[in-house]
Amino acid sequence: MADTVTPHVFASTLKTFKTAAGRQGRYWSLPELTKQFPNIAKLPVSIRIVLESVLRNCDGQKVAAEHVEQLANWQPNAERTEEIPFVVTRVVLQDFTGVPLLADLAAMRSTAKRLDKSPKTIEPLVPVDLVVDHSVMVDHYGTPQALDLNMKLEFSRNKERYQFMKWGMQAFDTFGVTPPGFGIVHQVNLEYLARGVYKAADDKAEVATWYPDSLVGTDSHTTMINGVGVVGWGVGGIEAEAAMLGQPVYFLTPDVVGFELTGQLREGVTATDLVLYVTQILRQEKVVGKFVEFFGPGAASIPVPDRATIGNMAPEYGATMGFFPVDEKTIAYFRGTGRTDEEIERLEAYYKAQGLFGMPAPGALNYTKTVKLDLSTVTPSLAGPKRPQDRIDLGHLAGRFTELYSKPNEANGFNQPADKLAVRHDIALEGKKVSIGNGDVLIAAITSCTNTSNPSVLLAAGLLAKKAVEAGLTVKPHVKTSLAPGSRIVTDYLQKTKLLPYLEKLGFYLAGYGCTTCIGNAGDLAPEINDVITNNNLVCAAVLSGNRNFEARIHPNLKANFLASPPLVVAFAIAGNVTVDLMSQPVGKGTGGKDVYLGDIWPSAAEVDDLLRYAMDAQAFRRNYEQIAANPGELWNSIKGVQGEVYDWPTSTYIAEPPFFEGFGMQPKAAEAGVTGARIMALFGDSITTDHISPAGAIKESSPAGQWLKAHGVGKADFNSYGSRRGNHEVMMRGTFANVRIKNLMLPAGADGSREEGGLTLFQPGGEKMYIYDAAMKYIDQGVPTVIFAGEEYGTGSSRDWAAKGTQLLGIKAVVARSFERIHRANLVGMGVLPLQFLGTDSWQGLNLKGDEKIDVLIPGELKPQREDVKLVIERADGSRQEVAVRLRIDTPIEVEYYKHGGILPFVLRQLLQG
Ligand code: SF4
Repeated sequence: MADTVTPHVFASTLKTFKTAAGRQGRYWSLPELTKQFPNIAKLPVSIRIVLESVLRNCDGQKVAAEHVEQLANWQPNAERTEEIPFVVTRVVLQDFTGVPLLADLAAMRSTAKRLDKSPKTIEPLVPVDLVVDHSVMVDHYGTPQALDLNMKLEFSRNKERYQFMKWGMQAFDTFGVTPPGFGIVHQVNLEYLARGVYKAADDKAEVATWYPDSLVGTDSHTTMINGVGVVGWGVGGIEAEAAMLGQPVYFLTPDVVGFELTGQLREGVTATDLVLYVTQILRQEKVVGKFVEFFGPGAASIPVPDRATIGNMAPEYGATMGFFPVDEKTIAYFRGTGRTDEEIERLEAYYKAQGLFGMPAPGALNYTKTVKLDLSTVTPSLAGPKRPQDRIDLGHLAGRFTELYSKPNEANGFNQPADKLAVRHDIALEGKKVSIGNGDVLIAAITSCTNTSNPSVLLAAGLLAKKAVEAGLTVKPHVKTSLAPGSRIVTDYLQKTKLLPYLEKLGFYLAGYGCTTCIGNAGDLAPEINDVITNNNLVCAAVLSGNRNFEARIHPNLKANFLASPPLVVAFAIAGNVTVDLMSQPVGKGTGGKDVYLGDIWPSAAEVDDLLRYAMDAQAFRRNYEQIAANPGELWNSIKGVQGEVYDWPTSTYIAEPPFFEGFGMQPKAAEAGVTGARIMALFGDSITTDHISPAGAIKESSPAGQWLKAHGVGKADFNSYGSRRGNHEVMMRGTFANVRIKNLMLPAGADGSREEGGLTLFQPGGEKMYIYDAAMKYIDQGVPTVIFAGEEYGTGSSRDWAAKGTQLLGIKAVVARSFERIHRANLVGMGVLPLQFLGTDSWQGLNLKGDEKIDVLIPGELKPQREDVKLVIERADGSRQEVAVRLRIDTPIEVEYYKHGGILPFVLRQLLQG
């Protein structure tokens, strides 16, 4: 950190503050800076927190005085051309993204050693916390042993990764791990890792300097922490790596959309319903790349767990953040979750001293634009079946599903003959006859950080389960039920309130403390169920309390995935089919064959409120999180890690030294920007997600990754998921574009208009159909570069560095799209792949591309951000040529440097080794 650098241009802004107990601290005072820049007084709170970081770290090198001036003079509506160098307080990682990042750090150390430099030069400069949450799968469910059995399987599948993490814990001074079985990274962050304000570690002054918490995380839903007034968002692993190695996170000065909340939620409406409304509204407002800041009386009235639920889904509404300022509710949350009195006092005193405490009133601050929502207008909702922003009123779900069943794929439908909708098929399941049909709920999962951090909806699920059991309702036999909370605190209060046994009675036994279904770790369905779905092309459903429902994310055979509150998840497990209209039809038949309606079992707000005190037990939080150090569990203790500063890379199908530093030298190779004579690897439509590009879920046996694993002695049962194998580039390269639902539109349409799915391409010239990986290797062998064409929102979905790393390793030099998701675009540049954007209404369809063309990308002169004079030259099979201008989406000067260095990793390594 640059706190002690002198002379500081704004040294006069270093002031002292005092806590209620009389403790003193120093701080870089924004009120003092306001004397020079009066504009600050009306800046959004989130911008002022970033400004504090810029001010504090202003060292004339990474952060210049101009950066302070520029941000202090932020205007609500201005052209955004300047980038902000933001030095964050800490970094959080989940294990899927954290392991490859640790592998990159380890590779940097190995490279340093090979160059006779000190490996210790590579060391995180800010605290890094990795929470192991993504690896637990729901193999076992519906029994009291499910947690134990799933954890044992998790450890047996992931031993090599966990050994590697243990190496990281001893090799790096500032790298901590929360072992499996404690919870989900964002919930653990909210409940435990976030400590309020932080002290400068290298500050030798008698009175220490304090500053706000801020962070980046290698998971899109890092924004959940915005609920406690922490500025932070998800970045790709490569940017997080740079952040932990002392580089600022660079981002374009954002617009800030103010979101005014008024009124109160109505009886029976949950925080999940609210966040689905917010997501739908903000998607329409197009907030990509913007901060959203909540304010007004409605925002002040909602508790932190509801704020965190809203912050969580920022990636779904497209914003960089969904931020709530620190106020009394934040203090109450810190108190209820066991933070120390000293931490709480300091948090309050600091924010008050900075003039940043309290929920802003309407009109108090300047925003780029203001959006409003009266909370009383929110109604019970779900979202789906394919996108989180497609909110559906509960009462319209049955109709919507029926309508989409026979609509064409292009209209988001399932393209099935309407007369097949009601056809049912009998199968034998564990010796019993079970009937399966379209719309059947086959997975009902209380999962995900979005909702399981929120006691109001978890208690509502428990209360609904209690009433349902008492009414004699049961869950349909075809439903795979699971409860996977984001922290052990959830089961603690479900036990104290005596609600857990009712959830269990309905099959919602604890399956794990982790992401499970939310990340595609739902585990498989019974083979009989898989068969009946695939043999009859059934459109079956999952209902989950998560935030993502893209195709094939939840389960490869479930095409309709609905996001819903935990009580609705339980209700749909009972109803068993999404065509049951829960607003007018019974949920099921109870004791004596009596019809039971949702209204009969839905808990009242008063019933939920009455139990909330059990969920805010400071002692319980402290006791729980002390266990991370004191008692991480036998399974974790039994893992033995490699010792030493440098990893010795034992043979493993999980961890391998990544090839990103092969041939590394202290000087970047001089290469011309642009691409010559490229072949087209794929033509994609809109909304290609990072999960399409680099799936996290199951590995198909016949796929290139499956074949490679088999050739290396790994049986199908031990394939594990792509996500868990992100420490091995051999698997991940083969998994790139291997999503079973991805459609490469180069492949001709079938007679019914449908498209072949899976990671296939037509190798050119000649058009031989093969896996994208196989084609990529052939093109690389022949020295032929490749490009991808896509539609809108390319790279949407969870931040996934392998989506860019895999693209690079397949030899793809450029992606030309109608628009890009923020993190994925940055990651492409970070891996040295050119993102290019069509201008105006141009598209590959409009250009009539077939896939057999040759492509050049011409960038005349010097490489500069956001140029619009980059030329795409298309040479068609008949020899004709066409030129089209596209925008270079290298957005900032630092990205130009990354690209010139062949990516951010070589850039950072050169800086560190030179330094
Ligand atoms: S959004 Fe889902 S996958 Fe991501 S951290 Fe939360 S629970 Fe895990």
